[in-house]
Amino acid sequence: MSFLTLADVSKSFGNLHAVADLNLSVEKGEFVSLLGPSGCGKTTTLQMIAGFVQATSGRIVLDGRDITDMKPNQRGLGIVFQSYALFPHMTVAQNVRFGLEMRRVGKAESDERVREALALVRLESLAGRFPRELSGGQRQRVALARAIVIAPPVLLLDEPMSNLDAKLREEMQFELRAIQRRIGTTTIMVTHDQSEALSISDRVVVMEAGRITQVDSPYRAYERPENRFVSEFIGKANLFSGTVVAADGARVQVDVGTDRIEIGHGPHLQQRDVPAVGEAVTVCIRPEKVRLDATGGGRLPATVTSRFFLGSQWLYRVDCRLGEVLVCCQNEGDEPLAEGESVGIDWKSEAVRFVAREARHA
Ligand code: ATP
Repeated sequence: MSFLTLADVSKSFGNLHAVADLNLSVEKGEFVSLLGPSGCGKTTTLQMIAGFVQATSGRIVLDGRDITDMKPNQRGLGIVFQSYALFPHMTVAQNVRFGLEMRRVGKAESDERVREALALVRLESLAGRFPRELSGGQRQRVALARAIVIAPPVLLLDEPMSNLDAKLREEMQFELRAIQRRIGTTTIMVTHDQSEALSISDRVVVMEAGRITQVDSPYRAYERPENRFVSEFIGKANLFSGTVVAADGARVQVDVGTDRIEIGHGPHLQQRDVPAVGEAVTVCIRPEKVRLDATGGGRLPATVTSRFFLGSQWLYRVDCRLGEVLVCCQNEGDEPLAEGESVGIDWKSEAVRFVAREARHA
C-alpha cells in the first residue's frame, strides 16, 4: 500500500470533467510534480488532496486512512500557495508559529520548532521582520517554513515559485529540493513549468484535459515519452508521421514521405508494444540528437531558416524534405551557422523514438 493513494478520483463542475478517473500512488518521502498545460486539472487535484475541493467520486487514502470526506484541518497537510498568503500584520516568526498555536503546542516546544523551521529555510536572522520588509524569495521561504513547522505528513505546493524571477526561481528549486530531502516529507507540487518539474521531482505526473497521460521519472518521461502530447510537452521534439514498412524484431523502419527512418533497438522499444507493418505511427527525434553538418554531408540536405542563441547552445530551425526540423547544438565558441546556409542533417537510429500509433485518416 502506498503512502498516498488516489483511486478513481474525479471532479466535475457541472458538465465539465475537470479531473476524470485519476489513479495515482505516491510513496513516502517522494517528490511528485503534477505537470500540464493550463486548465488540465492540476490545481483541482491538489485541492482535492488538501480537502478544499470535494471529489465528485473516488477515494483518497493517506497512510492507510481514508481522508476523502475529512475537512482540510483534519487532514493536517502542509500547503504553500502561489500567493504565499502570509499574514501581513505578523512577523516572520509569528507567521511560522501560527500553525503551532492552532494546534495548541506549548510555548517552549513552539519556540524550538519555529527556530528549527527558520533555520531550515535560512531565515533565522529575519525572524522579527514583517512580510512587507522581505523580498519575494524570502516570503516564499517563510511560506515554506510555515507549512513544514507543523511536520505535515504531506506537503502540497501550488506553483510555489511562479512569483519569483528566473534566477531566484532556479535557486529556490535547488533549495526546495534540498530541504525536502533533509526533512523527508512526501511532497506534491503543481507546476506548468516542465523544466522545474524535471529538475526537482522523483516522478512527474503529466496531465492533459483532466487525465494522466504518463507517470514516470523525469528522465524516462523525456527519453521515452509514451505519446505525442508528452513528447511535445516535455522538452522540444521533432515529430514525424509515417507508415511502418519493416518490423521484424531486428529493426523497425518507418517511411516518412520519400524518406525512411529507422527506429534503433534499445530499451525504449523492448518495453513498448512494437508497431506492425502497415501501421501509421509518429516517431520523435529530440533536437539535440540531430547532428548538423556545415559541409552539407549526412543523411538529408537542409537549409538553415533561423537560429536562436541559448547561451550554452544554439537552436537552429532547418528546412528539409521532412519539413521543419529543430536542431540543438552545443555552443563550442565557433562562428554560428547563418540563415540561408546549406547544411546536412543526420542522426543515429538509436535516437529515434516510437511515440504513438496514429488513427489512419481516409
Ligand atoms: P492552471 O495551470 O491554469 O492553474 P490547472 O491545470 O491547475 O490550470 P484547474 O485549476 O484544476 O487547472 O482547472 C481545471 C478545469 O476546471 C478548468 O477548465 C477550470 O476552468 C475548471 N474549474 C476549476 N475550478 C472550478 C470551479 N470552482 N468552478 C468551475 N470550474 C472550475
